[in-house]
Amino acid sequence: MQNNHKFHALINGELVSGTQQMPVINPSNEEFLTYCPQATPEDVERAIGAARKAWPAWRDAPMEQRRQTLHAIADCIEENAEELQRWITLEQGKPLAGAAVETSQAPAILRYFAEMDLSPRTLQDDERQRAELHRRPLGVVAAIVPWNFPLVMACYKLGPALIAGNTCLIKPSPTTPLATLRLGEMIADLVPPGVVNILPDGGDVGPLLTGHGGINKVSFTGSTATGRAVMRSAADSLQRLTLELGGNDAAIVLDDVDVDAVAPQLFALAFVNSGQVCMSIKRLYIQSGIYDRMCDALAEQARDAKLGEGLDPETQYGPVQNRQQFEAVQKLLEQAPQHGRVIAGGNTYGPGYFVEPTLIRDIEEGNPLVDEEIFGPVRSLLRFDDIDEAIARANNSPYGLGGSVWTQDLTLGKQIACRLESGSAWVNQHFAMAPHIPFGGHKQSGIGVEFAEAGLHEYTAIQSVVIAK
Ligand code: NAD
Repeated sequence: MQNNHKFHALINGELVSGTQQMPVINPSNEEFLTYCPQATPEDVERAIGAARKAWPAWRDAPMEQRRQTLHAIADCIEENAEELQRWITLEQGKPLAGAAVETSQAPAILRYFAEMDLSPRTLQDDERQRAELHRRPLGVVAAIVPWNFPLVMACYKLGPALIAGNTCLIKPSPTTPLATLRLGEMIADLVPPGVVNILPDGGDVGPLLTGHGGINKVSFTGSTATGRAVMRSAADSLQRLTLELGGNDAAIVLDDVDVDAVAPQLFALAFVNSGQVCMSIKRLYIQSGIYDRMCDALAEQARDAKLGEGLDPETQYGPVQNRQQFEAVQKLLEQAPQHGRVIAGGNTYGPGYFVEPTLIRDIEEGNPLVDEEIFGPVRSLLRFDDIDEAIARANNSPYGLGGSVWTQDLTLGKQIACRLESGSAWVNQHFAMAPHIPFGGHKQSGIGVEFAEAGLHEYTAIQSVVIAK
């Protein structure tokens, strides 16, 4: 595979080179990687028209055909995993091992949804009437994807959208379009024209989709600020929405844990994907009895972490994905010494958007390093004495995506987990996702869920069919 591959958008089953091209940058060295098509407003209209036209036949296609299509897309990802991993690493910056997680989870989620059952449920059947609950597809779904897990997140949305009988437009993030475009090129002949369309953009296509009367549902993953804009523009045509938004997850670490055993797990779950995960640990609440020892053990992990270019097999942590995000993290880092003590990292360097894994201890709430979502490798270590106090502080956030409790007492751990105001609550783990377990945000972390039957149902509308006897 060469970097000079010519990328195409997928519109109405055709591979389109596009009238406009845009550059994609490698975040590991800030060098130009390649050009790819940049969708124009005319491309958007064409894709929406194609998806609308394809919808009735796809909606009415036998379930078996839709199942086979999803398995065929999954096969295609598996067969081309190595190439896709390389594009993910080049455009996103993550190590190849992280890209391999995407190319293994993406087919797994497609296969999971391929086997879901959407047959009608009988609600009543007596001498008076027969009542059935049917789940109908919504129509055309716009899947809007962020830059932290470009391929797997596109597939989170593609799987349930297609199996439920919807057609789909996928809009990758402007800074990570390549793996998704390659997927489009690979599957162009596997899906009927118009059923899947892929529209790379320079940042202007999202609002065109969310305000469009031809789109029935928007499945959006991204920041809370953009989620609000999506919700506002969806109002006019009452588009159905799933919003997976930002998070500021707390981990509450009780002083009965084995510090040496738990510190590497906490570190990995805070810094995975260089801290650019909605559901990674962002605030660590550590009980006083182990606070100093845990801070030291985490700092040692940070010092041992190997940063670098993702194609280097030694690399554990890549750069921040783009300049805008890099500058946002730099700005927050500058404030760190005012609010706490930096015990590891604290520096940024280039070329590339590298930020050392940074830990700040003796820090409290009331500043952006703790109160805001940091989408980069900077984490706060907060001390607490009393468990009720820790729960209150963890919950005192507009976000409510995930949260975890770390303790050897599983009964107590579960009691605390159940008091967290978050869509996912874990004990002795974090960011533990699986296709059969729904996830979503409470409060300003989102609306609706993805994964599992509940996630599939978000791509359907209920129709009650009631027959008098
Ligand atoms: P972002 O909100 O800037 O962009 C996300 C996507 O929305 C991109 O494709 C972008 O082009 C598009 N977009 C931008 N403005 C739009 C608009 N007005 N209308 C429609 N679409 C628009 O987010 P990002 O910087 O790419 O990703 C980071 C954020 O995503 C973080 O806040 C993170 O927590 C969140 N995130 C959440 C989850 C989750 O499942 N809850 C998962 C991953 C990332």
